[in-house]
Amino acid sequence: LTRMYGPLTALSNVHVDVMTALVSFDRVFEVLDLEPLVRDRDGARPLGEVREKGGGDGVRLSKPDAPSIEFDHVRFAYPSAEEVSLASLESIARTDTAPGREVLHDVHFRAEPGQLVALVGPSGAGKSTITHLVSRLYDVSGGAVRIGGVDVRDVTLESLRSEIGVVSQDAHLYHDTIRENLRYARPDATDEEILAALEAAQIADLVAAMPEGLDTVVGDRGYRLSGGEKQRLAIARLLLKAPSVVVLDEATAHLDSESEAAVQRALRTALAGRTSLVIAHRLSTIREADQILVIEDGRIAERGRHEELLLQGGLYAELYRTQFAHQRDEKRPAEPLGAE
Ligand code: ATP
Repeated sequence: LTRMYGPLTALSNVHVDVMTALVSFDRVFEVLDLEPLVRDRDGARPLGEVREKGGGDGVRLSKPDAPSIEFDHVRFAYPSAEEVSLASLESIARTDTAPGREVLHDVHFRAEPGQLVALVGPSGAGKSTITHLVSRLYDVSGGAVRIGGVDVRDVTLESLRSEIGVVSQDAHLYHDTIRENLRYARPDATDEEILAALEAAQIADLVAAMPEGLDTVVGDRGYRLSGGEKQRLAIARLLLKAPSVVVLDEATAHLDSESEAAVQRALRTALAGRTSLVIAHRLSTIREADQILVIEDGRIAERGRHEELLLQGGLYAELYRTQFAHQRDEKRPAEPLGAE
């Protein structure tokens, strides 16, 4: 816990309750080695009170109404190192325009409630940066990011981040029991709820077979888990949190096909009914995406569904050929490379 709360304790004006709510976000700050540059505006309201209710289909009992996500002509430059350290030292908010190099230029799209939007594109194109802005790790330099029709700067960070589930590429586990690793997502989760989440994430059998079940210690020096198993635990954590928005960076690591299939099934459960922004590395994900945004040099170079984009024979078709076409997709036969 010390490790988890460490990065947050520097936030002198943050109430303990808020810290609890931010639990699943600690990693983001830790990974970025960053104190938050943003904080609540005066008069910020809880997102749940002000956002439009989304388009839930009525059958997803445990899933909140999913909201839309809208990027309205977003421009963004990362703050300079001086600004970051200034913010850390003085704990001041920086919500003004950052003067660094602009890495997103006029990014404009809308994910409808419950949609899966896949981000693809070359390394350094700006995909992760787009996902950072959804959680308001930074403020935009121009334009706006809206969730459920509300500018993310007008709602409390706590309420915003409690609606967003983030799964990073390298699923991180703390050196602690499986139970506690899952409870980071929801401290009051019962064992029954934890087991249901493990079941839905396709990892319950493995945990049941471990020497101490939920009390088995995992993490750096604990029970060794494969990449696919760690990912499924991260998905179980996400399911426990039950966010209405999911931001996911799919792993690039090669998994054996059994693990891969289990991760895919778990992901399908986790994403259904939630509005999701996925940095996609899997063929199955891009095929299922409602929209694919092809990001290049901080802009949306192409957008559409898989088949449409293949037919265009542009950057997506090229990416498909180099990154995705060789992947096996059990559900479908190999497909032609489109009209090029
Ligand atoms: P990858 O597929 O390699 O993860 P990406 O498409 O996610 O790449 P981003 O990580 O969003 O790309 O990076 C977009 C641009 O922003 C790059 O030029 C990168 O160097 C820059 N960048 C990323 N993070 C920071 C940061 N914390 N501070 C300054 N610049 C950054």
